[in-house]
Amino acid sequence: MRSKFGLFMGTLKLQVGMSGTFDLEIGKVYGAWLVQKKLSYGQKYQCLCTACGQVVKNIRKYDIYHQKTRMCKKCSVQSTKSSHGMSDTPEYNTWVHMIQRCHNPNNKDYARYGGRGIEVCDIWRESFESFYMCVGPKPTPEHTIERLDYNVSYEPGNVTWATRTVQNRNKSDNQKVTVDGVTKSVSQWAADPRCTVSHFTLYKRIARGWLEEHGAEFTLFSPSQAGLDVD
Ligand SMILES: [Zn+2]
Repeated sequence: MRSKFGLFMGTLKLQVGMSGTFDLEIGKVYGAWLVQKKLSYGQKYQCLCTACGQVVKNIRKYDIYHQKTRMCKKCSVQSTKSSHGMSDTPEYNTWVHMIQRCHNPNNKDYARYGGRGIEVCDIWRESFESFYMCVGPKPTPEHTIERLDYNVSYEPGNVTWATRTVQNRNKSDNQKVTVDGVTKSVSQWAADPRCTVSHFTLYKRIARGWLEEHGAEFTLFSPSQAGLDVD
């Protein structure tokens, strides 16, 4: 009985010893962290941030090893801000405010955005560059970022720069389009099998005044021959 128990404990110890308790090598570099010493308590280490020279204590071994942390907080903020060199631009400002109203419950506009389930998609939330690559430069100071479908989040294909005039027009006509006597929202038409252009293109055509110029015909739902969808 006793020996069996002892054997069991021995096996358990061996397993823990093999997988759970490893040490980081002193002097090794992970990201910008240079491991300086193992601290006497817990699984934490003291490291030097080689980007700025600051010594930081109490960093979890797990976080260093798996590179959940790669440098000190100050350097991390600095590198996110400066890598794209656009932190003082209107586009960056737009990006910050978009995330704030969707994901910060203390923001004054949260109720109309995050509170209604409107989010900023993960890839844009994590990276200003991804957002900027998708939407491009803000055409004029009068332009603001607009969601094409008001019930859909900030995500690729649902966002464009627009002026107040276009936004108000979109809101006031609520994007209803009548074709052959059938009235549907633009989202519904985009889902129609006869529609061979993207939801986004359909919205853009309507926002540009396609209905006034061409009327609501099925050409609205097919790739343009007139070169009207230049962007
Ligand atoms: Zn640093």
